[in-house]
Amino acid sequence: MASGVRNGGGGGGVGAARMSGKLDRQSVTATPKSTGKPRLSAGGGAYRRASSGSLPAAGGGRASSDSGVSSRVRVAVRLRPRNADELAADADFGDSVELQPELKRLKLRKNNWESETYEFDEVLTEFSSQKRVYEVVAKPVVESVLEGYNGTVMAYGQTGTGKTFTLGRLGEEDTAARGIMVRAMEDILADITPETDTVSLSYLQLYMEMIQDLLDPVNDNIAIVEDPRTGDVSLPGATVVEIRDQKSFVDILRVGEAHRVAANTKLNTESSRSHALLMVNVRRTVKGRHEMDASISGENGHSSSIVGSLRPPIVRKSKLVVVDLAGSERIDKSGSEGHTLEEAKSINLSLSALGKCINALAENSPHVPVRDSKLTRLLKDSFGGTARTSLVVTIGPSPRHRGETTSTIMFGQRAMKVENMVKLKEEFDYKSLCRRLDIELDKLIAENERQKKYFDDEVERITAETQCRVTEAERECKIALESEKAKYHQEYLDSIKILEEKWKIHQQSPKKQIKETGSSPNEVGEVQNLLQNEKILRQSAEYEANDLKNQVLHWKKMEAIATAEVVKLRKMLDTEASQKEKLEEEIAVLKSQLLQLSIDADETTRSLDRGDGSGKIFPGFDSLMSHTRNSEPREQSNGPKPPIAKLFEQVGLQKILSLLESEEPDVRVHAVKVVANLAAEEANQEKIVEAGGLTSLLMLLRSSEDETIRRVAAGAIANLAMNETNQDLIMAQGGVALLSMTASDAEDPQTLRMVAGAIANLCGNDKLQIRLRGEGGIKALLGMVKCGHPDVLAQVARGIANFAKCESRAVTQRNKVGKSLLIDDGVLPWIVKNANNEAAPIRRHIELALCHLAQHEVNSKDIISEGALWELVRISRDCSREDIRMLAYRTLTSSPTLQSEMRRLRIEY
Ligand code: ADP
Ligand code: MG
Repeated sequence: MASGVRNGGGGGGVGAARMSGKLDRQSVTATPKSTGKPRLSAGGGAYRRASSGSLPAAGGGRASSDSGVSSRVRVAVRLRPRNADELAADADFGDSVELQPELKRLKLRKNNWESETYEFDEVLTEFSSQKRVYEVVAKPVVESVLEGYNGTVMAYGQTGTGKTFTLGRLGEEDTAARGIMVRAMEDILADITPETDTVSLSYLQLYMEMIQDLLDPVNDNIAIVEDPRTGDVSLPGATVVEIRDQKSFVDILRVGEAHRVAANTKLNTESSRSHALLMVNVRRTVKGRHEMDASISGENGHSSSIVGSLRPPIVRKSKLVVVDLAGSERIDKSGSEGHTLEEAKSINLSLSALGKCINALAENSPHVPVRDSKLTRLLKDSFGGTARTSLVVTIGPSPRHRGETTSTIMFGQRAMKVENMVKLKEEFDYKSLCRRLDIELDKLIAENERQKKYFDDEVERITAETQCRVTEAERECKIALESEKAKYHQEYLDSIKILEEKWKIHQQSPKKQIKETGSSPNEVGEVQNLLQNEKILRQSAEYEANDLKNQVLHWKKMEAIATAEVVKLRKMLDTEASQKEKLEEEIAVLKSQLLQLSIDADETTRSLDRGDGSGKIFPGFDSLMSHTRNSEPREQSNGPKPPIAKLFEQVGLQKILSLLESEEPDVRVHAVKVVANLAAEEANQEKIVEAGGLTSLLMLLRSSEDETIRRVAAGAIANLAMNETNQDLIMAQGGVALLSMTASDAEDPQTLRMVAGAIANLCGNDKLQIRLRGEGGIKALLGMVKCGHPDVLAQVARGIANFAKCESRAVTQRNKVGKSLLIDDGVLPWIVKNANNEAAPIRRHIELALCHLAQHEVNSKDIISEGALWELVRISRDCSREDIRMLAYRTLTSSPTLQSEMRRLRIEY
């Protein structure tokens, strides 16, 4: 009896050597080397390192987040026990296979005297328990998924050989019978932390090239969506259910199973024609790393602990895919009829595409036909991708199906040659960071408002109380005064009355006596006494009055004390307000750090995606950004402008603009950079102007002490100044004077370049010509040339050319008469000096400006007297750009004054 050992059908020549006992485990499991080997996910963008060996099957290997670790697809074979039919019908025949589980070999009988031997990663006999099958086939994959890698467990085999038995049995009546799906979920749920981790799943079937949602069968044509950047596939249309406990999972499996379309065949009444895919998403927050970071930075107190929490948490999002494939038997054998023939063809389409892809991967073929079927697209990551993959091929014992058994074994052998690059699926969780910061902010704001309200109430209360006391004191004082007054008045009246009475008596009785002798000395004494009394009474009344006055003074003092108390309270309120301001500043710093973070994130994304050269609105702007952000390599900022990152959207333009007025210089610099970045994109410009950004930027030119801020602001204004409406606004807000001022204070040529660029843009507006010149725009441009930097000169030349062009147009349309304002402002000598400048951008603009000026006779005299005619002649002869050359030529030949001067100078034309 001849026999040979095969692995992967890989070559006949090894048989003899292996037979002689030299074959060892290592020589079989050693994987084909695969540097630069094409994969199912070719073009998917995952970076792979050339591998030098396979990873152990147990999921211990930890990959770094950008490079993968090589891991071969593991394949186990499982033999189903004879069923009742086979026991009866095949009683006289031996099985078509013989297993040697301890050697991990399987012998396939070709006939009575010949057999072939194949090696697998695992050989599972008809006696293998479901538990053992799970532990050998799926457990390493599940563990790996829990560590943050993608994983796949797939069953392949003829209908009726036990694929669904292996994967899908619920084992409700007998827990020992539980299949891989149920056991995997048990392990997952036992390992995760419910507070921070989530498990969710979709359950789908692929049937006739249509993806149907087993959890919502009406949804029967779900589209596969591919991320153009990463190549990852997803099914956004599928129902996703979050799993919290094992019972709900089993319920969901039962619902899905009930929906699964099964077509009957001769072989097995329960066999399925569809592929079933269970996709389990595990999302875990990585503990430890972030918290450790936060506690290190948290040592310096409250604010730095907030800053510490700016570090985004890390999440791992991995996926376990369990695939119960449709039967692998050939169509003619399945005995299908009617529409099931079509159906079987479609099943074969996905299955045969899978076979082709695995062949291509096993043979390192340059093309892997991933796109040929939906199944291969969905399993892109499972074969040749970044997932850890384990395959179980199921076979039956019956010699009647030897053909199918053989082809199943060969499939398994080829799959063993497929190598994946497992990769950790971990990323920063910016969303949750954002949420956390929002909560932090809300808390601070609420606390602040609460304190403010408390102090307002307190002040109100004390003010009212004091007022009350003062009013009460005044009232009491008034009453006392009144009563004293009344009392003394009454006493006074009484004594007057007494005196009058006495006077009367005196006059009546001894009238004569008195007449003769004058008043008796007694009576006079009495009256004097009375008068004396009266005086005393008066004095005491005055004392009383003084006393009352003193009381009033005392009350006034009390009132002053109460007022002082109010002042003290106000001071406390002020202190509180300044604390509030500090808190607000802290919030602003937080926001700006958040922005910086998002800019950095965008930069990183951008540097990853580098290689697209989309156009820029204002060519100088990017180099400005790299100039100000000197910590970064220059070429980084030459990429495309980042879109407004999500974080910007969350913070909001209004808030960013408000940061321009922050007290913190750092925040202002960051904020103006962010605004300038946004202003460089046309799509944002209108929003920025509407939100008052242009006014704020002009304010910065007026008030900022820091040249970096003024430079960046001028750059942003230059970008905004490309639009006519904005040009009007800039003029209306005194922009020219501010730009001129910025230019005269500038020390850095880049600042001048920004300012000149902005004015140059304004120069191109027909309606603003007179005003621009009137406000010193041309003089400002000319003033900047003394710095000599070619970038600045180019912007100045562009401005002059723009202005000359508009002016020329105005003269032609008879909107202007008289000599050019440029000539009035003394531009010609500079033009003549630089008309032949070696820098092309400067030269071209000057040439154009000169042609525009010379087109009008009013300017001819000055052109001649300043020597610009020679330059025009030179341009018409030597200029390398034909259109400019022609323009100069036409200008010369159409001007009578220039013509006659040329004749006088004997210039040939
Ligand atoms: P498939 O999904 O490959 O079509 P099934 O899982 O439906 O096959 O199995 C077909 C039949 O064989 C079922 O009745 C199942 O219970 C039985 N069967 C499969 N594998 C085994 C096994 N290892 N032990 C006992 N019965 C099995
Ligand atoms: Mg099945």
